[in-house]
Amino acid sequence: MKTRYSSESVMRYFKELCAIPHGSYHVDAISDYLVDFAKKHNLSVHQDELKNVIIKKDATSGYENEPGIILQGHMDMVAVCDDPAKKDMEKEGLDLVEEEGYLYAKGTSLGGDDGIAIAYALAILESNEIPHPALEVIITVNEEVGMDGAKGIDLSDIRGRRLLNIDSEEEGILTVSCAGGVRVHTSLEGLIEPFTAPVVFLSLDGLKGGHSGSEIHKGRANGAHLLADILLHILDDGYDLRLISMSAGEKDNAIPNSGSAEFAVTNLGDPEEFISYVESYNDELLKKYEGIEDEIRITIGVSLPEEGSGYSADDTEDFLEFIEDEPDGVIAICADMDLVETSLNLGIMKLDAEGFFCVFALRSSVASKLEELKERVAKIADNYDGESEFHGDYPAWEYKKESPFREKMVEIYRGLYGEDPKVEGIHAGLECGFFVNKIPDLEAVSIGPNILDIHTTKEKLDLQSTDRVWDYICAVLSEK
Ligand SMILES: [Zn+2]
Repeated sequence: MKTRYSSESVMRYFKELCAIPHGSYHVDAISDYLVDFAKKHNLSVHQDELKNVIIKKDATSGYENEPGIILQGHMDMVAVCDDPAKKDMEKEGLDLVEEEGYLYAKGTSLGGDDGIAIAYALAILESNEIPHPALEVIITVNEEVGMDGAKGIDLSDIRGRRLLNIDSEEEGILTVSCAGGVRVHTSLEGLIEPFTAPVVFLSLDGLKGGHSGSEIHKGRANGAHLLADILLHILDDGYDLRLISMSAGEKDNAIPNSGSAEFAVTNLGDPEEFISYVESYNDELLKKYEGIEDEIRITIGVSLPEEGSGYSADDTEDFLEFIEDEPDGVIAICADMDLVETSLNLGIMKLDAEGFFCVFALRSSVASKLEELKERVAKIADNYDGESEFHGDYPAWEYKKESPFREKMVEIYRGLYGEDPKVEGIHAGLECGFFVNKIPDLEAVSIGPNILDIHTTKEKLDLQSTDRVWDYICAVLSEK
């Protein structure tokens, strides 16, 4: 029987963290709390100007010659709230509820992602019982909004070469590689002209959407692309379109699940006929996406002829063809693993009187493929006299063929759970990418307890899983 260490302090610390507002960009208070914690426990601590915190603790007796371990997580959470009128998440703590083995926060996200990592780390730093090698705890800021903390942190003072990242949400999986990514912002301009014509309001909804990394391989329709496809279909059938506005998506890392457009049609003809013509295309789309998107719904309304202004016929066509020309979804699959290698998602599309603006989120586990795709997206914008800018790039964490730390973690898992863990790569970003790029001989593994529906107000932390992962972390630290 392995020694078990009480997990009481994990929940105690987690609850303390939940009392301190710590949404992304509002991390000063929680960062200071971590510094105070370290001082109170006589541990060496460094807070940098970004508010990242590094706490160090010496090896316990008998572990001085074991390789040091870095425990790592991020202090910010995605702060979302069902009713912002009832709670100010910048000022108030969370209302925790424990129910049927889960912990959640009433009406808001919980921040188990990634507060649980900090709670584990503080519980270990506080303990006088758990044996461990030299520990370095790195807690970063603003992971959820571009990984700015991991990007900017100075690691030159870090001695450990084994990093345990605790920012995964599924027990039983050891994540050992991740994609790198970049956002491409494109802007196109056009000529606005007056018209006298009926105006059509078209909205598209019922799509599933999803995460642009972990769900990009599911073949779901991208709402921005599908909207452009519908308008191009109308245009190709001989209608003279003048786009006034168009939008789909709000976040670069989510597949848009809806979209809407407003446009004039100078040769619309009978409105009833036009409406049923568009509705029949809705049926075609349902057939095309059968089994994947079964709730595609186009709703349209047509006004009486009116005076207004919109983009010229040529520019309207250019905008739509630009979207059609841009690749969408999965570009390549990894040869050796059943994992997406390269992909992109048009996450935000916005056309108004100011111009046509799009944000594409690109990902790849191969740096050169990411570079190629970035150039390709920009080149297509350039074909339409558009401008491109690159933002928020983060490096890939490539799979290390040899990693004694990973092997040790697999072995300990087997001993504890009686079965093998899954050892996987993910097609999404993790801070590990920045760490392995700053410390090339670093070995990293990412784990975490089961957390459901992260980044939403339904987020729930599985308490039994939290306990098992605690036992696992303690074993990783204490087994030689
Ligand atoms: Zn996270």
